[in-house]
Amino acid sequence: MTIYFDNSATTQVRKEVAEAMVEFISTNYGNPSSIHAVGRNSYKAMALARKRVAGLLNCSPTEICFAGCGTLANNLAILGRARFVEANGLGKHIITSRIEHPAVTGPARYLEGQGWKLTVLDVDKEGFIKVEQLMDALTDETSIISIMWANNEIGTLQPIKEMAQAVQEYAKERDREIFFHTDAVQAAGKVPIDLKEVPVSALSISGHKFHAPKGVGALFLRRGVNLMPITFGGGQERGLMPGTESMPNIVALGMAAELASGEMEDSVSRLKEMQSYMIEQLSTVPGVHITGTRDLDKRLPGHVSVAVENCEGEALVMQLDLKGICCSSASACHKGIVEPSHVLSALDLPCGLVKGSVRISLGKFNTMEECREAVAQIKSVFESQKLSVI
Ligand code: PLP
Repeated sequence: MTIYFDNSATTQVRKEVAEAMVEFISTNYGNPSSIHAVGRNSYKAMALARKRVAGLLNCSPTEICFAGCGTLANNLAILGRARFVEANGLGKHIITSRIEHPAVTGPARYLEGQGWKLTVLDVDKEGFIKVEQLMDALTDETSIISIMWANNEIGTLQPIKEMAQAVQEYAKERDREIFFHTDAVQAAGKVPIDLKEVPVSALSISGHKFHAPKGVGALFLRRGVNLMPITFGGGQERGLMPGTESMPNIVALGMAAELASGEMEDSVSRLKEMQSYMIEQLSTVPGVHITGTRDLDKRLPGHVSVAVENCEGEALVMQLDLKGICCSSASACHKGIVEPSHVLSALDLPCGLVKGSVRISLGKFNTMEECREAVAQIKSVFESQKLSVI
């Protein structure tokens, strides 16, 4: 039997989502840009999907730009705004953090190579960035901020609302615009996001993290905020994401968003219950340390991450795999040397801990029964691996 505990890596496509897609792979094959009846069917379906995604985020459908994945949405936000900044002779300073996904650090480092000043904010031992820290980093040249809503490795939820409000006030007082982007790929569909309350300029999501297929995402771009395209082609998605739309995937994203919105409250409480059980159980094992925060109101529901003393994360994951439990590690072995991830390194964990990371990410299809069954196996693997290393 397989127990799938790797929902932060990807999730199973829901039956309702798969069913909704079929029509757009087979009978309804129109190009949404075509003006005839077949094309109009697709156009209508795309409009509904846009409305559903907007419903998940509480924004206007006109503020949603479909993209091929979360990575593309992040790149479009950062590089598209950078093009606008450069075209208008604005300040070339970008702020990000030490625990961002490569889909944010990549474009940020690229800009640094192009002459931008890059500030990378530190995090505390639980992976949090303080609002004051961000405010202290702002300069007259700051044009772009990109800070993630939820971290994939340690589940930490940043105070994005407070940060975005403080930045908005700061910019208003100085009669300037500061583009605030957040990578919400791990947060969307799992925690409530209300863009009427959180004044970010742009936000990225990805379908496969909440039961749509891989290869579809979206960028929320607040009305009135300027961005320039980073790829060129037809005029789709207001010219920001040109290319004929992947109708089945867009329909799927809409359906997954609709289902996630309707089930948010129940899902958060179910996942928190299992998460709290797993954290409680695993922290009783000597040498096992919870990484990220234990405050479940500040952590992704269902996300559990640990570091096991004097162990190698990949070896633990392989042992668990042999027992039918799928999870992941942020510590990877490159050419025989175990390297901690940039996220774990940023937490300043003791040396014997950073290499033994394991992430258990629970999702909609997991049950408490599975958690009970898995916990016994996980505990025995952690114990036996420690013994074999010592
Ligand atoms: N940002 C975060 C925080 C992620 O966890 C991921 C994927 O793991 C991405 C961005 C990239 O999303 P996608 O896989 O849709 O390109």
